[in-house]
Amino acid sequence: MAKITKLDDIVSLCKRRGFIFQSSEIYGGLASCYDYGPLGVELKSNVRKAWWKSVVQMRDDVVGVDCSILMHPLVWKASGHADKFADLIAECKKCNVRTRVDHLAENAEEHTEHISLDIAEAAEYDLSNKVCPGCGKIGQFTEPMPFKLMFETQMGANVDDSMMLYLRPETAQGIFVNFRNVLDSTRVKIPFGIAQIGKSFRNEVTTKAFIFRTREFEQAELEFFCQPGTDDDWWHTWKDLRFQWYIDLGIKKENLRLRDHAGDELAHYAKACVDVEYKFPFGSGDWQELEGIANRTDYDLRQHQRGMRTLNKWYETKGDLTKIDLSDEAEDYEKGPLSYFDEEQKKRFIPYVIEPSAGIDRSTLAFLVDAYDEEEVKGQKRNLLRFHPALAPIKAAVFPLVKKDGLPEIAQNICNDFKKYFNCFYDQKGAVGRRYRRQDEAGTPYCLTVDGQTKEDGTVTVRERDSMEQERISTDKLLGYLREKLDI
Ligand code: ATP
Repeated sequence: MAKITKLDDIVSLCKRRGFIFQSSEIYGGLASCYDYGPLGVELKSNVRKAWWKSVVQMRDDVVGVDCSILMHPLVWKASGHADKFADLIAECKKCNVRTRVDHLAENAEEHTEHISLDIAEAAEYDLSNKVCPGCGKIGQFTEPMPFKLMFETQMGANVDDSMMLYLRPETAQGIFVNFRNVLDSTRVKIPFGIAQIGKSFRNEVTTKAFIFRTREFEQAELEFFCQPGTDDDWWHTWKDLRFQWYIDLGIKKENLRLRDHAGDELAHYAKACVDVEYKFPFGSGDWQELEGIANRTDYDLRQHQRGMRTLNKWYETKGDLTKIDLSDEAEDYEKGPLSYFDEEQKKRFIPYVIEPSAGIDRSTLAFLVDAYDEEEVKGQKRNLLRFHPALAPIKAAVFPLVKKDGLPEIAQNICNDFKKYFNCFYDQKGAVGRRYRRQDEAGTPYCLTVDGQTKEDGTVTVRERDSMEQERISTDKLLGYLREKLDI
């Protein structure tokens, strides 16, 4: 039970301190949609920046793109989403609640089965022992049926040229369809990667646990292109790098693990997949996916080569994707428009792809949960977020001890100077102890207090969030001191 309380505590802290709000709250809220408030937007942006720094900025072999959310419908035909991106659901005959078949628990146990459900074999799933999460009845389900996960929308005002489009359910396809553009416009050579961070949309059947599973969310995806035969090594490399990224940003090792997908769990295109899982405090304390690292083989580039050849057919059938057949494969396939020519080996091939695919909102939740702490200090409860400095929304707060004797002016000047380098917050309201507590709850690593002694010897008190230890640092050394501690 304590674990459930922990998520509730986080939800209420997020609302109270302006990290995350329910979307459209004044109208009663919109289920599964959330807005990031003033502290949340900084936190999430820091998660994005940390990912980009590690995956793009620090590497010579990865470049970035930012693709549009709306894409040509054939993209989703070729990728397989138009035909296959559905969840198998069943409806409870008693309370009409629809649940993903792979999320139904047996008896009262709360767990998720990890199986890759084949829509074609829907009727074969035995639900006689499964419990309805809505009303608790056992085995009272309809036959499983597919439920399409992509949101549809209409583009254009004229009947003739308007067309039905999908909101992208993953960012990866924007990368695949730009593979040729990136090759032709940069000097990248295989092995290399293309990275992207952006919104994705899935009409999830069941959403859960705050921002863990929502219908609109942000993904950070890397498609790393390599020569077939080197793919296993690159998969291992990325698996290790991505696991370490969470640890380096402060996630406790005991809360993080890698879990290999079993054969029957793999997506149809994947040769291997491993999930980075975090022990979230939901239910009985479940291990849940934060990120998947898949070996997607040459599936996507091959499929888009097939898709490109069906463009005329698509016009002839007036955009009816159901009439497009992608099954034929030209003999010169390896030489197709999305193939790669290796100058040194004088060899042409379709690259294999290793894909680390992370959720920005989901990892933001993991960073929040992992950083959250409560402790008793001098008989009083202290709530704090022990964020890694790179993720902390505010890096330092500056306080004048009292609102007189010129102290506010000195403190404000320090704060203004530091704002050029990092987020710095000025606060002169209330007792200094309360100001410290407010910054602890926001996860601010350092608080600086200007007092009477500052005017005499030019030093301020620097208080560290986790240990609450204080030391006096002279104002001319303060910026260097903080930049070293914060590593910025
Ligand atoms: P799940 O099995 O949880 O539905 P998935 O295996 O379909 O997820 P992927 O398609 O591998 O997820 O997406 C990659 C990452 O994107 C996930 O690891 C997760 O962090 C994030 N993600 C996927 N769906 C959602 C969602 N509905 N809400 C928030 N994040 C999501």
